Amino acid sequence: SRVFNFSPGPATLPEAVLRQAAEEMLDWQGSGMSVMEMSHRGKEFMGIHAEAVALVRELMGVPDHYKVLFVQGGAIGENAIVPMNLMGRSGRADYVNTGEWSTRSIAEAAKYGRVQVAASGEASGFTAIPPRASWQLDPGAAYVHICSNETIGGVQYHQLPDVGDVPLVADMSSDIMSRPIDVSRYGLIYAGAQKNMGPSGVTVVIVREDLLGHALAITPSAFNYQLQAENDSMYNTPPTYAIYILGLVLKHTRAHGGLAAMEAHNRAKAQLLYDFLDQSRYFSNRVAREDRSLMNVPFHLKDAALDAEFLKGAQARGMVQLKGHRLVGGMRASLYNALPLEAVQALVAYMQEFEAAHA
Ligand code: PLP
Repeated sequence: SRVFNFSPGPATLPEAVLRQAAEEMLDWQGSGMSVMEMSHRGKEFMGIHAEAVALVRELMGVPDHYKVLFVQGGAIGENAIVPMNLMGRSGRADYVNTGEWSTRSIAEAAKYGRVQVAASGEASGFTAIPPRASWQLDPGAAYVHICSNETIGGVQYHQLPDVGDVPLVADMSSDIMSRPIDVSRYGLIYAGAQKNMGPSGVTVVIVREDLLGHALAITPSAFNYQLQAENDSMYNTPPTYAIYILGLVLKHTRAHGGLAAMEAHNRAKAQLLYDFLDQSRYFSNRVAREDRSLMNVPFHLKDAALDAEFLKGAQARGMVQLKGHRLVGGMRASLYNALPLEAVQALVAYMQEFEAAHA
């Protein structure tokens, strides 16, 4: 009875994880309690928390001189929390604008320091990442901020830009854990959990230790990375249940081959859909080929008047959450780790059928 869920997030999760959570709901491993009912300082939850941190470290290969924090506020919260914690190093930061999520990061950061837009994809309607050679970087910036995958526009970095000695900060909300990355090339990574890692409510922050300790005086204590790091993310009560599910998802990710296997799986799904779109005379994707996202694929029907009919037919075939974001229009298929290949096969088969009926 489960649908193929193409939601951009909160998104589909592995069924095995949901089943395990259901089994453990009333009595977690003989404790006589639900994880929801546990003290965050009790030995049961401390174990769950430590294991989740260790899984993030293992899967992403996080070096020892980085802290892994589980905090609250989501990526939109981090849009303020990052500058509050890092801007103090020089009072100014560079941002690369690749779409809606970068735009929002820029607007928020400007409240806490001098923000320079080092490059922008706006002229292309955010259908391409501005080439690195065009970026105007300030060597004195406290950091350079990018969004590694624009969930709405469907552009993704496939090569990490070299930004010299300035710490690179990435909003990785919609592609974290979807492929292996070299954490040592980043100063800080943040991501909400609700695409590839679990439910909403927990935000993962991976931060190089030398960047701690520069928070602006106005920084709320709960959002001060150094305080959270010193307290193992337990300065305040963490989102315990969300952390537990994140741990289950990451265990599942590891059991299925880790991030290299996720990347292969995600590439196969994206290729199937892009190959179809590229030969179709009825459906199209407007993103520059080299910058196309493996996670979020926006596409348009030739006749937008048929959008509602397309969505209705998809729903009838058990495919949901395909409506595009209002800023881009059309459709969007999100292909996160937990979405099976069969979902994309079913989508492409339906698109073929729809095209034959309407082209
Ligand atoms: N950044 C990106 C790339 C996102 O995809 C999202 C949510 O979809 C956000 C930020 C906002 O995250 P949140 O709603 O968890 O604050």
